[in-house]
Amino acid sequence: DDKYEEGLAKTRSSFGERLNALFANFRTVDENFFDDLEEMLIEADVGYDMAVKLSDELREEAKLKNAKSSQDLAQVIVTKLVELYAAAGVNEDNSLHEATSGPTVYLFVGVNGAGKTTTIGKLAHQLEQTGKKVLLAAGDTFRAGAIEQLQEWGKRDGVPVVASAVGADPAAVVFDAVKKAKAEAFDILLVDTAGRLQNKVNLMKELDKIKRVISRELPEAPQEVLLVLDATTGQNALSQAKQFNETTDISGIVLTKLDGSGKGGIVLAIRNELHVPVKLVGLGEGMDDLQPFVPEKFAYGLFQ
Ligand code: GDP
Repeated sequence: DDKYEEGLAKTRSSFGERLNALFANFRTVDENFFDDLEEMLIEADVGYDMAVKLSDELREEAKLKNAKSSQDLAQVIVTKLVELYAAAGVNEDNSLHEATSGPTVYLFVGVNGAGKTTTIGKLAHQLEQTGKKVLLAAGDTFRAGAIEQLQEWGKRDGVPVVASAVGADPAAVVFDAVKKAKAEAFDILLVDTAGRLQNKVNLMKELDKIKRVISRELPEAPQEVLLVLDATTGQNALSQAKQFNETTDISGIVLTKLDGSGKGGIVLAIRNELHVPVKLVGLGEGMDDLQPFVPEKFAYGLFQ
């Protein structure tokens, strides 16, 4: 919980400070208040349509509840945010799925710099801590840096890494990793991939081939295809999400760098447009700064 609070401090301060300033400037809730609120939501990257919808609904709620002071409205806003998030996916499962037998496989996709390697490193550490036997695969064979970085995380976590030279076929690396995971009874295999959106057709082929290689050996796998997005890139993250979603089936989103973003509203925008659950959030660079996404905590974090 502390990590959540700490990590969201920046998002909270800019978003929450502005909300507080808004509250301070308006003794009574009037049209100007709602106009300013709408503008603030747009700037927080909630998305234009969502911002309009949210302020319209809040206007109604305020009338219904007879909320005359802006303070009364704070609770209404939090409740509404959580409601809106939940409404975008009924009965949705936020957890990371595991295999019923044999190794579990998670595939990580996303553009360079989004935080894929870091997320894999953190998750590997956390899984290790719970007693799981973890293996990593350096499926981003496009950049030497990506391979080295994953190997560094492997060393730090005390987890083996299957890697090949730059330019090798990523599916071949993944094939070796899956074989090893099966033969040596690993519980979980985390696969890094190169997210080159510049060439969507190639990316699609590459990801399809990787998935085929995995499911040939492990019919249930991959259990998760996780799209890693950098929250600080705001609307750009949303557009990446749309493009990846057209390229491959995404089972969940990891939203990184929420600690460095005043634009946490992107969570709602992604949710509203893609109907893909945010499963994990990155709240810093430390080992424990990767947390399951809890909508309630998130909404409260933003508006307190
Ligand atoms: P990749 O290219 O997608 O593998 O991205 P990296 O894992 O190399 O991450 C790019 C940069 O973002 C690195 O400097 C990471 O330390 C940093 N980073 C990743 N996740 C987070 C996060 O949740 N918070 C912060 N503050 N930095 C992060």
